[in-house]
Amino acid sequence: MIITSAKPFEEILNMLKDEDYIFVIGCNVCAAKLKTGGEPEVLEMCRRLEESGKHVVGWALPTAACSIRSYESLVEKNEKIKEAHCVLVMGCGSGVSAVATVVDLPIYGSNNTLSLGGSSGGKLLSDQCVMCGDCTISEYGGLCPKAQCPKGLLNGPCGGAVGGMCEVNREKDCVWTLIYERLKKIKRLDLLYVTHAPQEHGFK
Ligand code: SF4
Ligand code: SF4
Repeated sequence: MIITSAKPFEEILNMLKDEDYIFVIGCNVCAAKLKTGGEPEVLEMCRRLEESGKHVVGWALPTAACSIRSYESLVEKNEKIKEAHCVLVMGCGSGVSAVATVVDLPIYGSNNTLSLGGSSGGKLLSDQCVMCGDCTISEYGGLCPKAQCPKGLLNGPCGGAVGGMCEVNREKDCVWTLIYERLKKIKRLDLLYVTHAPQEHGFK
């Protein structure tokens, strides 16, 4: 799941200051789950834009904003898109880009894209992977220090954790504490004795 947060409405309005006749496109996967682009948020966005003096010509909620078949597939969902002068996408950056490949109009994104995450047991998991292109997560029991340790330590921990919390961000668990607990639970503490060679940290 791509983790997004909604931009403040004033910022969105400012982006659209020279635009009118807006078509709003949500995303019924990640953004819907995060309440940054599902149907209730799309309807609320349309309402607030209208209230601010903008004309909203219509809206659509494709299954995934990042997976758009064609312009015609958007027309099938709502032909009002033909009347639009611009499009506001309520998805992640990938969703905005995908829509831009099929819609020849100015495109705007209403969200900030934060990280690759997920959810488990109703709990939101952010920063699970930074898509380094050389996955070694199996060597850490399924938790990625490249993504979750602010120092990117492959042979952690750094020693600064207090009460299991990271010294860089006191609100987050030290991932190396979590890795230790997990490896202990799955009886693979032997993996902690492996010294990992330095890796390129200039992620693509
Ligand atoms: S090592 Fe970490 S950052 Fe790299 S692909 Fe695997 S999970 Fe993602
Ligand atoms: S406290 Fe843990 S997560 Fe934080 S920088 Fe040190 S090793 Fe990394």
